[in-house]
Amino acid sequence: MTEHISEQRMYELVDGAALSAGPGGELEHLDACPECRTRLEDLSDVVAGLRGLPTEATTPDGLWAGIASRRDDIAGRPGAVVQP
Ligand SMILES: [Zn+2]
Repeated sequence: MTEHISEQRMYELVDGAALSAGPGGELEHLDACPECRTRLEDLSDVVAGLRGLPTEATTPDGLWAGIASRRDDIAGRPGAVVQP
């Protein structure tokens, strides 16, 4: 059996790099090595999960208005220092 597929190469494969074929290639190795197959599947699942996350965060309606209102209340108190 050939050497296990490196972690760096696993990332490349998950990013769409082609498996090397032929004798001693990655495809042959994955067919014969359950450890690398499992690692590649696990990494693919993690990356797919990360890609499914939203790229922007949203806040509940009214949250920022409430924060600004509280800040203004605090700024109005004697001795209060509010950074711009
Ligand atoms: Zn392996």
